[in-house]
Amino acid sequence: MIGRLILGDQLNPAHSWFAAIEPREVCYYFVESHEELTYAPHHRQKMLGFLGAMRRFAAFLGELGHNVTYVDLSAGVQDLAAYLRAEKDAGRIEAWEAQEPDEYRLDESLRSVVDHFVSTEHFLTDRQAVATHFSGKKTYLMESFYRMMRKKTGILMDGDQPAGGQWNYDADNRQAWPKGHQPPPIPFFNHDLSSLDRELDEAGLPRWGESRSHAFPWPLDRREALQVLDAFVADRLVHFGAYQDALVDHEPYLYHSLLSFALNTKMLAPMEVIQAAEAAYRNGHAPLNSVEGFIRQILGWREFVRGIYWAEMPTYADLNFFNHQRPLPSWFYTGKTSMRCVSQAIEQSLSNAYAHHIQRLMVTGNIALLLGLHPDEVDSWYLGIYIDAIEWVEQPNTRGMSQYADGGKLGSKPYVSSGAYLNKMSNHCSSCVYSVQDKTGEKACPFNALYWDFHDRHRAKLEKNPRIGMVYRTWDRMAPPQKTALLDRASWIHEHMEEL
Ligand SMILES: Cc1cc2nc3c(=O)[nH]c(=O)nc-3n(C[C@H](O)[C@H](O)[C@H](O)COP(=O)(O)OP(=O)(O)OC[C@H]3O[C@@H](n4cnc5c(N)ncnc54)[C@H](O)[C@@H]3O)c2cc1C
Ligand code: SF4
Repeated sequence: MIGRLILGDQLNPAHSWFAAIEPREVCYYFVESHEELTYAPHHRQKMLGFLGAMRRFAAFLGELGHNVTYVDLSAGVQDLAAYLRAEKDAGRIEAWEAQEPDEYRLDESLRSVVDHFVSTEHFLTDRQAVATHFSGKKTYLMESFYRMMRKKTGILMDGDQPAGGQWNYDADNRQAWPKGHQPPPIPFFNHDLSSLDRELDEAGLPRWGESRSHAFPWPLDRREALQVLDAFVADRLVHFGAYQDALVDHEPYLYHSLLSFALNTKMLAPMEVIQAAEAAYRNGHAPLNSVEGFIRQILGWREFVRGIYWAEMPTYADLNFFNHQRPLPSWFYTGKTSMRCVSQAIEQSLSNAYAHHIQRLMVTGNIALLLGLHPDEVDSWYLGIYIDAIEWVEQPNTRGMSQYADGGKLGSKPYVSSGAYLNKMSNHCSSCVYSVQDKTGEKACPFNALYWDFHDRHRAKLEKNPRIGMVYRTWDRMAPPQKTALLDRASWIHEHMEEL
């Protein structure tokens, strides 16, 4: 018997493995291993989403007539590679076949036992595409990779020119949220996963975040994932670009697509999502600034960060450019902080296993970097809390883009801001305990003093960056007493991080 392993993020029904019932003796194996559920502090919704979707996919393959073995939590499998080895040793499996894991850790451990790997047939580029494209260069530039991808795929191209004459329409995007504007409702699912939730408890798996197991909102199979895509294209793509960077009190989803879980589990293929968005532009349903902005995230950023991951692992996982060492304050796990923007982002993450990009980058990522938190801890938090978090995409975004721990291989400057940016892009500040206008004093917005303190502390590493020069010129022009007051306020914040 040939065993074909299917991982929780390999739920792609269009894979050529399933095109026909194999004439050879083949069995598709799904294994719920404890190690996969505990290598990071996973949000309970994330565990439910992955296992719920795996179980559906296994049942689907069985209905098609494939031979399926499902090893659930009750079997107590700890280590996946050890389990596969034991099956072989016991003579139940002659050889293991697997789709290439997207995570370095699993790729390494499965190589010792899997006899033959095939492609997942999911991505638009191979693992080495970014390394090849930037061969000989010290840094990676998303825009150059993205243009290459547009030309290569013909997406949003009119002949050899970009649709509309420009590659990028961000000048029309990044608008603040209009007062009183209501985003369209999101058609969530209401799955009852309460018995799976109990199984997780019985198996002794830790609980973190709201399970929402009685009305589980996320898609669990391809048919449902397509419904999420259709609803996004019909109702939200139109304003995706304009409000992509907005932050709004009590509005966690805005015009975002919520497609990352369906994409990362491979229930949806990136090209079909891109083509659905391009069709909406071509048939006049959505404007080019939104469609291009959305397509750039998938054709550009998603493939780009995956390529960086494979070009840089395993050393990428240990980078700590600023030598930040501090542990996460406890409010990262509870959301209980008086900083309104941060509490909204964390509370929403705890209840939804989701936060949109700007919450991840400019709120939680921003405060983590300003406070000098250890990138290992920050990485582990992001890897655990989001339903879409898989290391190949989480790590370059967190350690690279958000924490600049790679010293600028991925991004050209650290994503930090004072309260002014957050006040411009959000309506959080009006209901915050802190005053965004104040720079010093006990009610001053913590982002303000921390911003200057961050640049002051890391001057030697950042001063020569042409994109930051202006910050140092402003700092140098500031009156000494004002500088001292800002640094004193920052130092108080560092010492009282738990009380913020
Ligand atoms: C610190 C940090 C951690 C992140 N961790 C993850 C993660 O673990 N998993 C993950 O899928 N994304 C991650 N992202 C990228 C991005 O924030 C999420 O993809 C997005 O918020 C998911 O929500 P959505 O589907 O509504 O996305 P939308 O805003 O609707 O975007 C559409 C799609 O584009 C893709 N995309 C957008 N931005 C990125 C990006 N920077 N990198 C890769 N793909 C992108 C996603 O597939 C997403 O579904 C992270 C970003 C940051 C700053
Ligand atoms: S005042 Fe500062 S901490 Fe409060 S919401 Fe605004 S940016 Fe966030």
